Amino acid sequence: MKESEYWNPQVETMPRNQLKEIQLKKIKYLINYAYHNSKWYHKLYNEANIKPEDIKTLDDFKKIPYYRKDDMRHETEKTGDPFAGILTIPLERIVSIHPSTGTTGTPTFMPYTQDDLKIMSDVALRNLWMMKLRPGMKMIANPMNWHWFACAYNMGFQRLGLSWGINACIPHPVTAPHMYNAIVRLKPDFGVIVLDLMLGLNDLCKRLGVKPKEVFSSLKYVFDGMGEPVTPELRKTLIDMWGLEDLWDAGGVGDGLLPVADCYAHLGQHVWDDYYCIELIDMETGEPLGPEERGEYLVTNLFVLGHPYVRFATEDFAYMSEGECDCGRTHLRLRVFSRTGWVFDIAGHKINPYDVRLVLEKFPETREGSFTMFKTRGKMDKLRLKVAYDRELTKDLGDLTRRVKEAIKKDLGVDSEVEWATWEEIPKIFHKIQRITDLSKE
Ligand SMILES: [Zn+2]
Repeated sequence: MKESEYWNPQVETMPRNQLKEIQLKKIKYLINYAYHNSKWYHKLYNEANIKPEDIKTLDDFKKIPYYRKDDMRHETEKTGDPFAGILTIPLERIVSIHPSTGTTGTPTFMPYTQDDLKIMSDVALRNLWMMKLRPGMKMIANPMNWHWFACAYNMGFQRLGLSWGINACIPHPVTAPHMYNAIVRLKPDFGVIVLDLMLGLNDLCKRLGVKPKEVFSSLKYVFDGMGEPVTPELRKTLIDMWGLEDLWDAGGVGDGLLPVADCYAHLGQHVWDDYYCIELIDMETGEPLGPEERGEYLVTNLFVLGHPYVRFATEDFAYMSEGECDCGRTHLRLRVFSRTGWVFDIAGHKINPYDVRLVLEKFPETREGSFTMFKTRGKMDKLRLKVAYDRELTKDLGDLTRRVKEAIKKDLGVDSEVEWATWEEIPKIFHKIQRITDLSKE
């Protein structure tokens, strides 16, 4: 029998109207459950004068208040409850607690039950199958065990029956020599390697005078987990440099236990609509937006019940599409650009790091898109960047500066100031490039 390209063909290709019916049924159950079992939701809905029985349609659901991580932090400060009153069950039933990375402030805690993790492994398996990971393959991974991403995928890796999996090192560019050594000696087919570590490995290969596609020739696929979104141009560049068959873009958000990944069509990351409900809101007004627009995305997890996530606002700036995907999956697609706090108003233009990457990746000298954007005090009238460039390919730095500034003006509509740097001089936080350098408080 021919192997299916779907882990769960029936659900993954289900007509959208049926998926919406499942969503509505699960939402009604969830709202009722959260209202009666969680202090947080009980108070939130009482204050908004909403009762579970008011929610009869998916449009009604949009009237329920959403909340952000800061709201949870305030409640924790006030009450001393580390879970802000959200838990619906005794702490003894929680089997795993993961702190958030703390990009927007004090980390919050994400607690999961055994049941949550069991369903989570089904979600993970749909993603892994979509990324062409198969039983018997040799995989190399470097999850940080404290990070929710490891908890989201570990059971999926085990259930799939891989030949072996290796935890080689932590996903930070400083560990590039360890990862390099592990790939070269262990010869995996599949790598779970965060984007910034891939760039770190490129930098290391350059210094060693070797080519990634030669030393990493065993690798067919790389699953870029937890990093930044992969732009189409960067995907092409990395596939070419590493000699890969494909490069997958995986990400998601821990609050909401939502891991997402893309299919071979690379038209955004699929979100399983029978397990999640994703919405977009306008970042300034909070008004709901439709598909095919850009805004902050909200996540509702339809299976996590111990610590429910209902209309949690992720502070991620994204685009979503309900249109058909070439792969035949009917579930919606999400494309995250950056954190909402990283969208700057520069001379009346909304600029975010993803759009800047699209410009820089057009030039061979800056095609890896490694840079940081400066945030300055008061009104910003120009885009200020520190950018890494390829010294071997650059003949005339003055000429490159002129071309880059011209392209930024043409594509983004703003003037710019570019400071050049080496890849190592670009600041990093954990495994990610620090896209924003805040000078406004200095
Ligand atoms: Zn698809």
